[in-house]
Amino acid sequence: MQVHERLFIGGDWVAPSTAATIDVVSPHSEEVIARVAEGREADVDRAVAAAREAFDHGPWPRMTPAERADVMAALLGALQARADELAVTITQEMGAPISFSHMAQVMASCMVLDYYVRLAREYRFEDVRAGMLGPCLVRREPVGVAGCIVPWNVPLFVTVLKLGAALAAGATVVLKPAPETPLDAIILAEALAAAGVPKGVVNIVPAGREVGEHLVRHPRVDKIAFTGSTAAGRKIASICGEQLKRVTLELGGKSAAIILDDADLGATLAGLMPGALMNNGQACVAQTRILASRARYDEVCDAIVGAVRAWTVGDPMDPATLCGPLVASRQRDRVEGYIAAGRKEGARIACGGGRPAAMKTGWYVEPTVFVNVDNRMQIAQEEIFGPVLAVIPYDDEGDALRIANESDYGLSGSVWTADVDRGLAVARAVRTGTYTVNGFAMEFGAPFGGFKCSGIGRELGPEGLEAYLEPKQINLPMGYELR
Ligand code: NAD
Repeated sequence: MQVHERLFIGGDWVAPSTAATIDVVSPHSEEVIARVAEGREADVDRAVAAAREAFDHGPWPRMTPAERADVMAALLGALQARADELAVTITQEMGAPISFSHMAQVMASCMVLDYYVRLAREYRFEDVRAGMLGPCLVRREPVGVAGCIVPWNVPLFVTVLKLGAALAAGATVVLKPAPETPLDAIILAEALAAAGVPKGVVNIVPAGREVGEHLVRHPRVDKIAFTGSTAAGRKIASICGEQLKRVTLELGGKSAAIILDDADLGATLAGLMPGALMNNGQACVAQTRILASRARYDEVCDAIVGAVRAWTVGDPMDPATLCGPLVASRQRDRVEGYIAAGRKEGARIACGGGRPAAMKTGWYVEPTVFVNVDNRMQIAQEEIFGPVLAVIPYDDEGDALRIANESDYGLSGSVWTADVDRGLAVARAVRTGTYTVNGFAMEFGAPFGGFKCSGIGRELGPEGLEAYLEPKQINLPMGYELR
């Protein structure tokens, strides 16, 4: 069993303020696989002080963006050198299939960091405009100390979305990983040290929600970047609102995949199933409402059931596994609660609905398809965060758009059709932050985030960097020539 007794603060591994520890439990074997130091309020205070010192007096915000990009490139190299270890660690701590971990948990994280390295080199942090009185210098300055709070489902990826932008901007960071997934963050800390990121620029305090809230309230923190549930996001937004603290929120989703009546079903399901069931259904962007025309409803439902039955459940370390366990027993309780609610509301289970008989330990739930779902049902409106799909019939394209938009959420979505023009018209009409015609994609050079209750602000693209920058205008005398 791994034991980590120290916290990464101020560039050193320091003793925590208390003897509290977090047990990391394998969702597959249900055994404790690691014990790590748990941060408390005093540790957050110490981490914020280190980040503050690094911001107010350290080299990081004063380096040129190109100098910062060189250090970030070294960090990328240090993470890439440990890519396999990172993938195995994430699978062991939260249960993602190992093939998904290699690709989406680790390779995608490295691609995001690489994007921010390039953006740091290319972005115009300053420009000069013709002002009314003379030249006006517009600068984009780092926001200060950023508190970054991340969930357990894609822990490294969500961290890098924040860290890449913060580092490129010249901000300093206190990162709070979720208590379920502190182990990948320990490898990240070692990579930060190996890459020569200056002391105090990134500090890491694994802890639970109360300690997370202490970070949110901390008067010496300038900005909070949060990814997690909509309920927690509301609370965090209200605290930041009181304090007028900058805040970006990446929250839940209940995205709709619209299968138009001209779609080729074979190609559609090959593309759609990974987007619907990835990460054991624990993805904010999962396409969990599938909208099918009444004219082809039975045919589409049968095809979905066939594809879901073929979605192999098993040990997440097995490369053939497509669906592993849920992160924790309480998460399985939650998903089973929704399955019971769907039955009660009158939807029909076309496959799954129980626990896989072959799995003797672990928090597994069978991939499940509900048919005859009405969009007003709880299983169509609330984020289940498990491998549970709802197939909803629609009358015509207008009805499909109405159903897709009748949601408190607006994070992702897709449309499947033989006619890309028709698909683009649908894409324009759905109120959601990320959309794909005939596929499931997330472009790193473009803004990612939510409409409605799916969040506030954007990550990725230049917009993601700007969430860590404060614009400033400096007015200069007429005739002054800026060098
Ligand atoms: P969660 O909200 O319970 O916890 C997320 C993180 O916030 C954890 O680190 C937790 O300790 C911390 N936290 C919780 N309450 C807090 C509070 N009041 N103050 C400060 N910190 C607090 O969410 P979860 O169950 O870990 O993650 C699943 C959720 O995350 C889902 O709703 C999912 O859709 C969402 N998510 C969204 C995105 C996105 O980009 N939009 C990406 C991944 C996950």
